[in-house]
Amino acid sequence: MNALIHQAYDPEAFRRAGHELVDLLAEHLKAVQDGGKEPAIPLVSAEEEYAFWQKDLRENQGGAPGELFKSVLARSVRVQHPRYMGHQISPAAPLAALASLVDGLLNNGMGVYEMGAAGTAIERLVVKTIAQKMGFDEAADGVLTSGGTLANLTALLAARSVKAPASVWQDGQREKLALLVSEEAHYCVDRAVRIMGWGEAGIIKVPSDKQYRMRTDLLEGCLQQARAEGKTVIAVVGSACSTSTGSFDNLEAIADFSEKHGLWFHVDGAHGGALCFSEQHRAILAGIERADSVVMDFHKMLLTPAVATALIFRNGQHSYRTFSQKAQYLWERETDEEWHNLAKRTFECTKLMMGLKAYTLLRTYGPELWKQYLDRVMELGRQFAALARKTEGFELAIEPQCNIVCFRFRPAGVAGEALDALNEHIRQALLEEGRFYIVKTNLRGNTYLRVTLSNPFTTETEILELFARIASLAERGVG
Ligand SMILES: *Cc1c(COP(=O)(O)O)cnc(C)c1O
Repeated sequence: MNALIHQAYDPEAFRRAGHELVDLLAEHLKAVQDGGKEPAIPLVSAEEEYAFWQKDLRENQGGAPGELFKSVLARSVRVQHPRYMGHQISPAAPLAALASLVDGLLNNGMGVYEMGAAGTAIERLVVKTIAQKMGFDEAADGVLTSGGTLANLTALLAARSVKAPASVWQDGQREKLALLVSEEAHYCVDRAVRIMGWGEAGIIKVPSDKQYRMRTDLLEGCLQQARAEGKTVIAVVGSACSTSTGSFDNLEAIADFSEKHGLWFHVDGAHGGALCFSEQHRAILAGIERADSVVMDFHKMLLTPAVATALIFRNGQHSYRTFSQKAQYLWERETDEEWHNLAKRTFECTKLMMGLKAYTLLRTYGPELWKQYLDRVMELGRQFAALARKTEGFELAIEPQCNIVCFRFRPAGVAGEALDALNEHIRQALLEEGRFYIVKTNLRGNTYLRVTLSNPFTTETEILELFARIASLAERGVG
């Protein structure tokens, strides 16, 4: 009776499958980290991929899970590969991936304390560690949540609750609320504004300078104009850094401006906020400790599997302002600031035990691991730029400020649309080959190639091979 249920929960079957899986993952890691003939991205068309899995389910239902896991590995992007230079995501540290497994099996919901005691206390420690590294004092507090996108929205809801003249939560939208943000900010800020019901008029895009940093000298004018148009500006969002070019806004200048006008100062540090762990590079974040709220992704620069994001409030009390909804069946005293009932402060009700991934790394290696990693990938950014400058035909979009580098291949005599088309062609050809994974971006109407050097094992060898490959693809592209 119920044989399948017994089979599904059989500890010995789990032990066998688990050992087999860890062996498989270790072999994968070895092959991928070595690079060699392994592609960084084994890509086929979406239709082909879907057909593969349709066939898999049709033909292999009831088959051993080992075969399934092998297929998944073979058909996925290898973020630990030294030729992976694609989107901003950590090469997950193996130990942090094991923590994900523990989280997966325990499946503690975390919404209320009793449903995830260990995870809740660990989360608080992780949040406090980040807050302290960023330079906040004991009053700072926050939560972990599912990704930078959600964390930014959560922060802005708190900003609205604290700064809007009337309670939108209670009475709905009345004023024309708005915020100021660089035109280079991540699209999720725009999305958050629209979700909050402020519409397009609610997002005031401040132009950026040649380095794609917010023109803070224009903030005053933008604010006055918005006020003249009847808008109530309540917040300024700084990017640390911007996604496309990895440019860090001048946080001190934004803090000064926000203080002067009584505005909420939010920092989107999804990518670069992690630099608070590097003595060598933390100066680029100067002023972050004056922010009312800061977002930082662990899965971008702190080596954890996705998704795990810290949302820190300088005044921890503000973290309770985001939502103030009655859910009596979960907690009795709605207005109490109970740090341990996390769902009072997060979008999620059921939530991953996401602090465990970062905590496992912190407890095992100390903050020194993050420091070493950050210093290494920052150095790679610098090295990539230096090599590009020295290599004929290559041109940097800007001098990179971190491990995100935008560049293009520009042979003599090629310009305008032909230059864009050439770089589009290069990126597409690289994608189809799969040996390297890099992405592209559009900067002020021009196509650039873009790398995020997130693998500490990438070296000059891979960078120079990439340049050689690009030059050779370009030759064929032009011809
Ligand atoms: C990646 C990124 C985000 C989005 O974070 P997710 O964790 O992918 O949701 C937001 N802002 C910036 C600046 C980013 O780089």
